[in-house]
Amino acid sequence: MKAGTPELLVITGVRAVDPARELDAELDLVVEGGAIVRLGPAAATEEIRRSERARVIDGRGLLLLPAFVDLHAHLREPGHEYKEDIRSGLAAAAAGGFAHVCAMPNTRPVNDSRAVTEALVAKAHELGGPVLHPIGAITVGQRGAELTEMADLKDAGVVAVSDDGRCVTSSAVMRRALEYARTFDLPVIQHAEDHALTEGAQMHEGAVSTRMGLRGWPRVAEDIIVARDTLLAECTGARYHVAHVSSRGAVRILRDAKARGVAVTAEVTPHHLTLTDAMVVGYNTACKVNPPLREQGDVDALREALADGTIDAIATDHAPHSTLEKDCEFAEASPGMIGLELVLPMLLDLVRRGALPLARVVTALSTAPAKVISIDAPSLHEGKRAELCLVDPEAPFVVDPARLRSKSRNTPLLGKTLTGRVQLVMAGGRIVFDEVKANGR
Ligand SMILES: [Zn+2]
Repeated sequence: MKAGTPELLVITGVRAVDPARELDAELDLVVEGGAIVRLGPAAATEEIRRSERARVIDGRGLLLLPAFVDLHAHLREPGHEYKEDIRSGLAAAAAGGFAHVCAMPNTRPVNDSRAVTEALVAKAHELGGPVLHPIGAITVGQRGAELTEMADLKDAGVVAVSDDGRCVTSSAVMRRALEYARTFDLPVIQHAEDHALTEGAQMHEGAVSTRMGLRGWPRVAEDIIVARDTLLAECTGARYHVAHVSSRGAVRILRDAKARGVAVTAEVTPHHLTLTDAMVVGYNTACKVNPPLREQGDVDALREALADGTIDAIATDHAPHSTLEKDCEFAEASPGMIGLELVLPMLLDLVRRGALPLARVVTALSTAPAKVISIDAPSLHEGKRAELCLVDPEAPFVVDPARLRSKSRNTPLLGKTLTGRVQLVMAGGRIVFDEVKANGR
């Protein structure tokens, strides 16, 4: 993963977009020793361009963005390394434009301890790619009962707690979790699903599930938990974050809670912003996800909520599975799809179609998620460590199984051609992904 980082990197005539500083302009960028030293029109002087130490990239037609932050990835280590591991997961993240990735704790063993957290941090650090931020479990073994030692977890490096994969269904446990996490200023991330309402569910409950004869996962199972939790967040004053919002009802509840000033944030996945339950027709297991793909009305509500800030961030819910878990009967298939390498082209398509402004997408992938986990957000600022992403928004991107960095291939977009390619990514001042030369620039 360690690519060569030149002492002096120069990108000329590039369209730089960083909504955090209201920047959208054509300019030059100069990175020296891993830091952004000059940024502006004609910042790359003749002398800099001609320097023997400089690598100069012609940025015309390209986009320069702050690098991305993913709040929600399943990197499967420890325990399920045949699906993904830290190395392959971070390589996929780098290829997708990410400088920071949060790793969900539903591994084997569950990350509910200092030991697992420290091992993850050490391994990622050694690889030198994007920064890994572990998320610790809310309850021991994610069993929904006894709270984890959050002080220890935070001290070891976790940035949030979550029982993702499972919902904390007990109101009493959730209340105590919020109170406890608040003392350490840790956000509590909820996988909102009332399991009593989704037992045996295979897909979204609606006309399509009825026609296919599959047991449905009703929206209300999500809405009930989000409603209850926002009330608990209000009475505890804790920081509450909803993972992968999928229903229009949950959007309405979040909008109300935010209007009342409750400290709640939320994320949405690229697949819930772009795909519907109609994709499941034909029993395509690649489209089986949890929460399920819903209807166009939900997709529209999610886009609107992202646009107006009701939903803060875009998170991938990158959930790799091998063919063992996917090439089987629909009812037996594990839920989840990969997303780290696909998120940008999927979203650029929405921007191109006028569904979302580019600035909002960039914020939702960088500044907003960074704020949820209280890390310094990647930004295009002179003096800052370089954490940036260079993109060709018009280049075709074939979702080629041979070229994906992830160990898994579970996406319904396999073999499709999307538009928009990440060309170069810097994280922590180092180049972690570089296909500029391969693409003839
Ligand atoms: Zn989840």
